[in-house]
Amino acid sequence: MLKDKFGRVIRDLRLSITDRCNFRCGYCMPAGFVPKAHRDILTFEEMARIVTVLAGEGVEKVRVTGGEPLLRRNVEGLVRILRAIPGIRDIALTSNGWFLGEHVDALKAAGVDRLNVSLDSLRRDRFKELTGVDALDRVLQSLETASAAGFFPVKVNCVVMRGENDDEVLDFAAFARRTGHSVRFIEFMPLDSGHAWDRSRMVAGREIVEAIDARYPLTAVRGNPSETALRYTFADNAAEIGVIAPVTRPFCGACNRLRITADGKVRNCLFSLAEHDLMTPLRNGASDDDLREVLRLAVLEKEAGHRINEPDFQQPLRTMSCIGG
Ligand code: SAM
Ligand code: SF4
Repeated sequence: MLKDKFGRVIRDLRLSITDRCNFRCGYCMPAGFVPKAHRDILTFEEMARIVTVLAGEGVEKVRVTGGEPLLRRNVEGLVRILRAIPGIRDIALTSNGWFLGEHVDALKAAGVDRLNVSLDSLRRDRFKELTGVDALDRVLQSLETASAAGFFPVKVNCVVMRGENDDEVLDFAAFARRTGHSVRFIEFMPLDSGHAWDRSRMVAGREIVEAIDARYPLTAVRGNPSETALRYTFADNAAEIGVIAPVTRPFCGACNRLRITADGKVRNCLFSLAEHDLMTPLRNGASDDDLREVLRLAVLEKEAGHRINEPDFQQPLRTMSCIGG
């Protein structure tokens, strides 16, 4: 088992399979970003080896992410490999939705259990402004195709930013009610590419819930403690919404997650400043025991919590597109 010094056991892996993306969300992808060369990115076989070692230590869930994971060729093949690893019982994928429509059937057949799709605006012009791509209709169409392929409800991730899209919170609640998809409002985190985050640009989870509750009364859903989202249903509609509030309501105490970056680094927290290299030992003939030792050390160093709310907080150098959200 991979247990940290605070007794938390790692069960959940975020596996970033590429640092590339076809969108340019300002809070994520740095301007002028130069992706790693292909040879510096883990192969699917290398990922499978790491996941096999992790599964042997009790990891049960894998979220495939990026960058945009569907930019990588044959993601379905990777999913099939992960599905066959004993102990892995849940596979999720997070996507910006652009390539999703053409992949959903193959992803379902390969064994993806759950999908998250990012959507920060329901207005065409604003969507384009936020992502750099005029793709709202295509992403909405992907959601419908995903539903038809059996992924209903899709979790729709919406990062709420003051003065940018916070006037759409009620529209997103109405969208959840209309479509049945589960909208997850996410607090803007200091992982932004321009290092321009400040608290005033973030909208607190509580404010989002209060605004929605005033228009569409909400009922809290009891979740399990390692869940990142606080979940709610509507009093008069079966759809669910969630609020992920890592800044104002950190869930570090119950965190059971570990991250592997596309270039083969282990991160024990989104906000950690240190990374542990797995790629070099992997390519130098390391045994499974050697890899396990790197993973064990990385987990042992997991801090009690992130320090966003501390005066000495230091933003990690790498943004979400590199770390894997
Ligand atoms: N490209 C895929 C997508 O957009 O869903 C997967 C990778 S993306 C890095 C994963 C999630 O991280 C997205 O939902 C995105 O909105 C979120 N994210 C990125 N930077 C963020 C930040 N600074 N604060 C909050 N969420 C962020
Ligand atoms: Fe790309 Fe996703 Fe980052 Fe947007 S949030 S730039 S879609 S990786």
